[in-house]
Amino acid sequence: MVGPQVHSLQDMMNNDLKLMTLEITERCNFRCNYCIYSKDYKSFREFGNKDMSFDVAKRAIDDLYKRSHNQEIVNIGFYGGEPLLRFSFIKDCINYAKEIFDKKELTFSMTSNMSLMTQEMANYFATLDNQFVILASIDGDLHIAFVY
Ligand code: SF4
Repeated sequence: MVGPQVHSLQDMMNNDLKLMTLEITERCNFRCNYCIYSKDYKSFREFGNKDMSFDVAKRAIDDLYKRSHNQEIVNIGFYGGEPLLRFSFIKDCINYAKEIFDKKELTFSMTSNMSLMTQEMANYFATLDNQFVILASIDGDLHIAFVY
């Protein structure tokens, strides 16, 4: 059975995408018990060590471009594992996306435990102004200070 919602969903998938999250690494410098990748969450993958290749990231960004015709603003998210383990990879993805999405407003986001953030990284993210949103997942004793 195929109803109108199925056709509309297909159309949305082909033209209305506005957000894509790239799981750029399975690696993380922590091993939190409450993590969705811990052994307690059977429906998710387990802790792992694989990294996304740049070729896969480029193809995903190309796909978002093709499927976001109706959107004026699109977002690319970086997720892990811990994305900051691959800071230069994030920069490569951002540079590539900026080339591809030259006519749209492009925003980025990242979910991070923040423990690996350096001043150099903070300075880079600050150069992106409001284009880059960080979702910080901070638990336990952690002391971070940045000067902008
Ligand atoms: S920091 Fe986040 S990704 Fe890493 S183990 Fe903890 S909850 Fe999982």
